[in-house]
Amino acid sequence: MRLFWKRKGPAGPRPQDIDCGQVMQRLYEYIDGELDDPDLVARIRAHLELCQRCYPHYGFERAFLRFLAEVRDGAPPNLRRRVFQRILEEETRKG
Ligand SMILES: [Zn+2]
Repeated sequence: MRLFWKRKGPAGPRPQDIDCGQVMQRLYEYIDGELDDPDLVARIRAHLELCQRCYPHYGFERAFLRFLAEVRDGAPPNLRRRVFQRILEEETRKG
């Protein structure tokens, strides 16, 4: 069996508490601060820090930085969401 976790997490939320599909579904809301469930936010953060499948595969960090650079506060939420998804797709395709 392959191990996907880089290291054992400290006490607190474990990356196994949420699966990769759920993380990706919530990724935009997580980044944009739309999640109002602190427990869920902590689980997603723990997952992204430790999961070797999600983090590199999705180019998460690069996409996030580009997203911040391209989208300013004035953009309406729907536009921000579309821009983020486009950037994420581009970064994912590049690998
Ligand atoms: Zn994952």
